[in-house]
Amino acid sequence: MASHIVGYPRMGPKRELKFALEAFWDGKSSAEELQKVSADLRSSIWKQMSEVGIKYIPSNTFSYYDQVLDTTAMLGAVPDRYSWTGGEIGFDTYFSMARGNASVPAMEMTKWFDTNYHYIVPELGPNTKFSYASHKAVTEYKEAKALGVDTVPVLIGPVTYLLFSKPAKGVEKSFCTLSLLDSVLPIYKEVIAELKAAGATWIQLDEPTLVKDLDSKKLDAFSKAYSELESSLSGLNVVVETYFADVPAEAYKTLTSLKGVTGFGFDLVRGTNTIEHIKSNFPAGKYLFAGVVDGRNIWANDLAASLTILQALEPVVGKDKLVVSTSCSLMHTAVDLVNETKLDDEIKSWLAFAAQKVVEVNALAKALTGTKDEAFFSSNAAALASRRSSPRVTNEEVQKAATALKGSDHRRATPVSARLDAQQKNLNLPILPTTTIGSFPQTVELRRVRREYKANKISEENYTAAIKEEISKVVKLQEELDIDVLVHGEPERNDMVEYFGEQLSGFAFTANGWVQSYGSRCVKPPIIYGDVSRPKPMTVFWSKMAQSMTSRPMKGMLTGPVTILNWSFVRNDQPRFQTCYQIALAIKKEVEDLEAGGIQVIQIDEAALREGLPLRKSEHAFYLDWAVHSFRITNCGIKDTTQIHTHMCYSNFNDIIQSIIDMDADVITIENSRSDEKLLSVFRDGVKYGAGIGPGVYDIHSPRIPSTEEIADRVNKMLAVLDTNILWVNPDCGLKTRKYNEVKPALTNMVSAAKLIRTQL
Ligand code: GLN
Ligand code: ZN
Repeated sequence: MASHIVGYPRMGPKRELKFALEAFWDGKSSAEELQKVSADLRSSIWKQMSEVGIKYIPSNTFSYYDQVLDTTAMLGAVPDRYSWTGGEIGFDTYFSMARGNASVPAMEMTKWFDTNYHYIVPELGPNTKFSYASHKAVTEYKEAKALGVDTVPVLIGPVTYLLFSKPAKGVEKSFCTLSLLDSVLPIYKEVIAELKAAGATWIQLDEPTLVKDLDSKKLDAFSKAYSELESSLSGLNVVVETYFADVPAEAYKTLTSLKGVTGFGFDLVRGTNTIEHIKSNFPAGKYLFAGVVDGRNIWANDLAASLTILQALEPVVGKDKLVVSTSCSLMHTAVDLVNETKLDDEIKSWLAFAAQKVVEVNALAKALTGTKDEAFFSSNAAALASRRSSPRVTNEEVQKAATALKGSDHRRATPVSARLDAQQKNLNLPILPTTTIGSFPQTVELRRVRREYKANKISEENYTAAIKEEISKVVKLQEELDIDVLVHGEPERNDMVEYFGEQLSGFAFTANGWVQSYGSRCVKPPIIYGDVSRPKPMTVFWSKMAQSMTSRPMKGMLTGPVTILNWSFVRNDQPRFQTCYQIALAIKKEVEDLEAGGIQVIQIDEAALREGLPLRKSEHAFYLDWAVHSFRITNCGIKDTTQIHTHMCYSNFNDIIQSIIDMDADVITIENSRSDEKLLSVFRDGVKYGAGIGPGVYDIHSPRIPSTEEIADRVNKMLAVLDTNILWVNPDCGLKTRKYNEVKPALTNMVSAAKLIRTQL
């Protein structure tokens, strides 16, 4: 009986990697210092798992930025624009691809499945030359070995890598990246040979795309790839790992027939149908890596239930072939409960973070061998029972109100075109109105003020004065820049979800429950443990204050229910839609209070609506229905003259455009600039969009400052497919992570570009 961990968080329990990366990028520390912090993190993770007793410990799940980018580096698939000249890829080239540099923009970044993690999308074409250009997997394996830990090196599998790539600039859109399989396999063979030579006995190839809807051509690519790799893999044990959903029947057949493979890993938390496939047909003599401990959530495992599942699988696969595992990499959960000082003991007893999940996996593995830790199992059972019966979890009134919403419809009475006319009479905006997405740079000083206020080190009065000062600076700056619709800059917010969660009931907060979002960026998702309600207004005070400082319209700034849901750790004891309706009702009250407070433009961010989309198409309609309904609930009762904006952090919504229209917002601002106009193609293809729309005109994820010409060029491209009177001009996301010396010139150029085009129309 054995235990296995699919992957582990790389940021460190106190985000050590984040700080090391940012110091390095800012030129405040050396490459050696960054490497030292990273090596220390890796070593402590390996030692921790080994001390717990985990048999199959992963390596190469560390990354300086992203594991897909690491694979691009391994394959030497560096796009030409980074002028890489060969040899081992160093920090310069690597971070230029990730973040752009002074002269070249970054590669595109997009969501990893339905998580809030973003990966760097490989750009490939018929002329891409592959070469073995990063030995990281082997180096990490050896590093662990030198520490006395024999690990399982993890690679992203060749088919998943290719399916997650896109045609490079200048390459036909129809180019099939899978056609490069024969070119990448030789590099995989080299890596595998080197791992073998270094002493590896197992390797893990992650092929999570197998959980998606794949046609037979794509499935065939898996068979072909692994047949081709078979001889290189001989002498090695290979586990092909899947996660995030069920493996559909056809894919299951393909997967379990792959050549050269010793074991298969499945997410048995989200993949309940997979269990049926396994029971009815699991190949003899192969290992089953049973992912029963949830890597996507923070709840303590129901050990008794997991043990029952495992015991049922035991006779199917054989005692010595069953490996207890996590449902996916633990990088999607928080790191260690030990560092939580803010949570009370009752809530803490309901939780397990990555470090605790490692212990759970091991406890289950031991229980299967007959050495069950009875005390551990019974305290787990007691904690689960206390959660089920806790009065902190249930609020009857909220339950009733949310249940009543299901099945009914909520819409604003007047159609959007008439509402826009009514709003324009009031707001009097120029054509191509300019705005920003909400946040302005968060300076060290500002973060200090917020931190000290939270720690009760400065008074409420001093805190309010400091935030007021900041808002007034941001308002003045926007007036100087001549932006049309202003924002207050969100200086009082640490995070767009946390800020609301802290003021809503039913949420709990961690001190260090960070999860990587992209690069060095981490988020600290709130934990929704109980029924949600809003005891009092959350943003009205600041929005009214900001509006009082200017005669221009000031946007109220809220986070929408679907985004709050998708960026939180949610309850696993009721359906997601039920929790979402509860949040929608709370936000609705806030919208009404803002309107009553004289705020005429209210932005309700739904940055994460798309990422909640189930991985399987058959489940999309149901999700979109309740998600869009939840958004409409928040603003269905307000005046025609109140303008509702929403914002989304992605542009590939060709497939959900009807749902976006159905949200019925007056204006939508969308990320666009890193995605090569995918967005505009929707409108070019004839979709009628009558509401206001602001596709981002420059990329805020990069320090690069766009020129006026470049922005004007983008706007003109948009005007070619969108009506002049509905187009807005704005950056593609909030400015929180940028610095003022980047934001000022960038926004100056943005406003100049809008003005320039206005004169040309
Ligand atoms: N209003 C938020 C901000 O500007 C939106 C952030 C987001 O879309 N991720 O920071
Ligand atoms: Zn955004």
